[in-house]
Amino acid sequence: MRVNITLECTECGEQTYLTNKNKRHNPDRLELKKYCPRCRKATLHRETK
Ligand SMILES: [Zn+2]
Repeated sequence: MRVNITLECTECGEQTYLTNKNKRHNPDRLELKKYCPRCRKATLHRETK
């Protein structure tokens, strides 16, 4: 049930992180505060399709 996903910075659109999630436990789109090297600060990152 684990699927690979990409996390994208919501401010600059950079695809910064590769991760995976459990689809059963997290059916919705993931949003995480992560450090973006392009923005050089922590921004909200959202799962892309
Ligand atoms: Zn960014």
